[in-house]
Amino acid sequence: MTRSVLLLVCISFLGLGRPPLTFGQIPPGKHELVLNATVIYTGDSHWSQPGEQYDESVTVNVSGTTRWPMSVDWSGYLAPSGPPTKDYTISVEGYGTDALEFLGTSKWSFYRASGWQDQDFFLGVNFSAQDGYADFEEGSFPPIAVDGVDVFGDEIDSGGWGYEALHDAWVNWDEVKNGRMTFATNAPQISASGQGLAQSSLHITAPGAAPVQSQGSMQATFSITVDEPEFDVVIIPPDDFDQWIPQAGADEKTPGNSLVVQLEIRAKDATNAPAGQGTFEINLLNTSQEPGICLNFPAMDQATLDYDLQIDGASGIQVAEDGQSGQTTNAAQSCFVSLTSYDYGAYGQLRVQATVQGKKYMGHVDGQPDQYDLTVPLDDNQNHIADAWEKQMGVYDQNLPPDWDEVDYPSDHKSTGDGIGLYERYRGFQFQGLYERLTPTNKYVFVYDPDDLVKNLAQGHYSQGSSFPVVSGCRTRFVEDDEWTGPGKASAFRRVVNFNSSGFGHAVDQHAIQVIMDIEDTPEVPPDWDNLWKSKASGGQSWSATNSLQNVLGMTWPDYTTSGFDSPLNTFLITIYPPLFETEIRNYVIYHTWGLPAYTNYPASPPADQQNMESAVAAAADAYIAANPDAKKERYFKRLADVTTHEMGHGLGIRHHAPTGAGEMECVLRYFDFDFPRNPNDRFELTARSPWPDIYCRSADHTANGRGCWYEIKVTDR
Ligand SMILES: [Zn+2]
Ligand SMILES: [Zn+2]
Repeated sequence: MTRSVLLLVCISFLGLGRPPLTFGQIPPGKHELVLNATVIYTGDSHWSQPGEQYDESVTVNVSGTTRWPMSVDWSGYLAPSGPPTKDYTISVEGYGTDALEFLGTSKWSFYRASGWQDQDFFLGVNFSAQDGYADFEEGSFPPIAVDGVDVFGDEIDSGGWGYEALHDAWVNWDEVKNGRMTFATNAPQISASGQGLAQSSLHITAPGAAPVQSQGSMQATFSITVDEPEFDVVIIPPDDFDQWIPQAGADEKTPGNSLVVQLEIRAKDATNAPAGQGTFEINLLNTSQEPGICLNFPAMDQATLDYDLQIDGASGIQVAEDGQSGQTTNAAQSCFVSLTSYDYGAYGQLRVQATVQGKKYMGHVDGQPDQYDLTVPLDDNQNHIADAWEKQMGVYDQNLPPDWDEVDYPSDHKSTGDGIGLYERYRGFQFQGLYERLTPTNKYVFVYDPDDLVKNLAQGHYSQGSSFPVVSGCRTRFVEDDEWTGPGKASAFRRVVNFNSSGFGHAVDQHAIQVIMDIEDTPEVPPDWDNLWKSKASGGQSWSATNSLQNVLGMTWPDYTTSGFDSPLNTFLITIYPPLFETEIRNYVIYHTWGLPAYTNYPASPPADQQNMESAVAAAADAYIAANPDAKKERYFKRLADVTTHEMGHGLGIRHHAPTGAGEMECVLRYFDFDFPRNPNDRFELTARSPWPDIYCRSADHTANGRGCWYEIKVTDR
């Protein structure tokens, strides 16, 4: 026989919890149901066989009070209106010996190990060796749980035989307790009292071993009263609480903004009683632990899960390491608690208890006697988004869920939404080092644009009208290296912008579109993409083996780890090839130069002149380009813009017109061809192509879906 070491005892008096009792005599209003209880457990066990003897005895004494705030309505219905406060003391006495003939004797004593939360505690065991024998090393054992014992619960898993008997006693306890309780319900000041006694003895045998004799008992006395509480503990938010929105600091360890809340003890009857002094226990519950300070900062591998809202220790309050609990040390009638935000989406609930004149009181929000927790920030529609922001954004009344992804401006796309849930829009992003919350009224498209191509085109005098933000009507935001998960394939969690997420309010992993320029004279297939192509699409052959980049102005390279052409998720990379724009311009100028009278009748001229004539036209074209630098520049940037916007359209799911050079002239998806008669006065086609292509068309005219490019757009990766 050897002792198992430690027992976890969980005291819970909820056997009487939340009783819907009817007490017709109790006046309506606020009351407290008070349970005063003393419970004594004893356990003894003995075991012996020749040369070996085991004896153990332990007593656990629990006494204290549970107070439930109660409400009585006019029909006399009495029910708990909030969580109970508990205040118990627990003491432990006991010892044991185990003597083995050949090894000697070991002795131990029980103690109550501290440091456990709430009303749970451990039984610890101190061992002392005698006669050279101990099952364990000498000294105190640390309070680690070996076996859990839930004294008032259904489960008991004993480490010592004595507890088997205790368990048996407890199994019978419910009946005993109910049998002895008496309620006097005919007085306004209701009270009840009672006692219970349960006993048990066990005779445990095992094959080849001597029987264990084990006895246990449990004895309890209790009383229940309904009192008028003497004090009110009030949580008073600041005047501008309804405007408060959490903000982070520069990083996760730097405090952001704070909210200062006052706690106050008030006498229930202010005319007769002076306000009491007391100490406050402060807790934050259900606090958010989103990684990072916003959706994409800091980088994923640097983000931590610290609590986003913490009690500030600076105001005379002792605060636990994690900032989630604290207490005042000196009795006072009032105190201030500062809550600090470490995240742009921080949330939590403040709960307060005060001990006044030896009694514990649960705090409630000022003016709201049934509101025990102050929800921070103010969030009456309970989606963990500050109501202040929802009101600013005009969506408060819609009571949208946190993962709502139904933004519908611009509208009439293939899908609503842009992949960023409502809570994520509110929690916000960092774009090129600047923090921003996203509106719930605009679609956002994210672009990784290391060459600043999309960005500069959107600002250029000539290019702006055909640039992506103007043509798409979507808000375009640019991410830097650390502000997304980096280039690459979706199956490796690359290209994601909302990566700092616990999953709360997360509609989908939304991807950015990468746009780069290739300024080499000979364009190259992006090597990373070609590897993907070889492994996924072509059975090992390089894309260039069967395709050419000759005369290609831009390319959208699909992500073959996804289901195919659809939204940014499916877009591995976009490449734009500026040198080929120069070639294209020259070809158009040559085409129109043939329209000069000197060349118009060609090839009616003798074929022998052909070579000379072509050289002459080319020279004239080059001279024209050199003589008209502004017009050439206009053509260059307009074309760069419409091609880039064409490729971005692919990135959002738009397919080519069919045939590619047909359909609306103004649509950036329509391929250029020699669409106009030769005109030496408009050799850059700035007049013929006016307006320069600047829409995703909404026309049935030769579009892939037969309705228009616009209707193919899908921004969300849902
Ligand atoms: Zn295309
Ligand atoms: Zn179109």
